[in-house]
Amino acid sequence: MDRNAIPFLDLVTPHRELKEELVAVFECALDTAGFIGGPMVEDFEKSFARFCDAQHCFGVSSGTDALRFALIAGGVKQGDVVVTVPNTFIATAEAITQAGARPDFVDVDERTYNMDPEKLREYLQVQCSVDGSTGRLVNKRLGMPVVAVVPVHLYGQPTDMDPILDLAERHNLIVIEDACQAHGAEYFSKQQNRWIKAGSMGRAAAFSFYPGKNLGACGEAGAVTTNDGDIARKIRMLRDHGQAKKYYHDMEGYNGRLDSIQAGILRVKLGHLTAWNEKRRECDRRYQELLGSAHEVIKLPSEPSFAKAVYHLYVVRVQNRDHVQKHLAEANIGTGIHYPIPLHLQKAYSALGYTKGDFAVSERVAAEILSLPMYPGLTYGQQDRIAQQVLNFVCRETSLESSSSPSAHVASLATQDG
Ligand SMILES: *Cc1c(COP(=O)(O)O)cnc(C)c1O
Repeated sequence: MDRNAIPFLDLVTPHRELKEELVAVFECALDTAGFIGGPMVEDFEKSFARFCDAQHCFGVSSGTDALRFALIAGGVKQGDVVVTVPNTFIATAEAITQAGARPDFVDVDERTYNMDPEKLREYLQVQCSVDGSTGRLVNKRLGMPVVAVVPVHLYGQPTDMDPILDLAERHNLIVIEDACQAHGAEYFSKQQNRWIKAGSMGRAAAFSFYPGKNLGACGEAGAVTTNDGDIARKIRMLRDHGQAKKYYHDMEGYNGRLDSIQAGILRVKLGHLTAWNEKRRECDRRYQELLGSAHEVIKLPSEPSFAKAVYHLYVVRVQNRDHVQKHLAEANIGTGIHYPIPLHLQKAYSALGYTKGDFAVSERVAAEILSLPMYPGLTYGQQDRIAQQVLNFVCRETSLESSSSPSAHVASLATQDG
């Protein structure tokens, strides 16, 4: 393998650096044979709740389970409609379906790639009406009650929550945040005049600790955070076969617990999360320096004034995306596409009856997005090379080459900073 290859994601280095502490977690679990639940899980839950400014945190077996449990605990059931966005990972919609409900979509904001509150307003006011006999909000086309909204803080960018929370309150909907890519992201609420952490804004929130996430386990893991006591009580039961206490089942639940080795590992890594997120933000600033002048040919992530993003992914937009990706692959630079097909056009959801053109922004964006390498250990030197390769390609394509071209700009930055 090329020694100079730049991987899309580096999961080896952080674990090598923390190896001793991580191995100690495993030894502790062996010595006590405490594999499921126990003090390591409780310790992590307490710490992660504090990190999110949430009252409760429950470790579960994955982000998908976290979403599903949060929806069920929030009262979503068979025959309900839950609204989310088409531009997300399929797990968001899977959790809705697994809770018995039908996913429906509103389009995203072209600037943030997250739920557009105006589209939600339009959906609730135009496509829905209040049923006179039940007083419930019903989707007119589907004839089904709309009960919940799942905004997704995609790529580590917080969704514009004030208007969404306001609409939800007015229409009596519960809000479950999909914070699976947003550990530590913050949103400035004008309503409350303060910065608020992802995971403490909705009725409940779901986190994933899949290895590649900003906080990742060495296996599968997830968590639900909430400030709602009733939801907390239900999540505790849902993840553990509906048990109120051992072998007393108040409801049917799931096998969805967090195991203690993963919890111990997450507790160790949580201590580094703030610094890691800060490094990701620094990588963003560097990409902005290197690529900002080429904004006509490459659109960088924009952080609205209400957002402090944690850049789980670094998603740029280019024409000719597939060619740019191929060019970078040939230069041994790994990239990704998150996500190439919006959910409403996935084969898995063909039965829902959507067609091309239903969510124009998501569709347009899906054809142009490209995720560049982004992780705390990414170096300036690597970013210089990535930027140089991107600019070589896009400038050649658009014959922007001149002495003041963006690629000359990168070369000059690179020599300044070594
Ligand atoms: C990763 C992810 C999930 C699912 O998490 P798992 O732990 O893989 O089940 C859900 N939603 C989004 C947006 C994600 O990125």
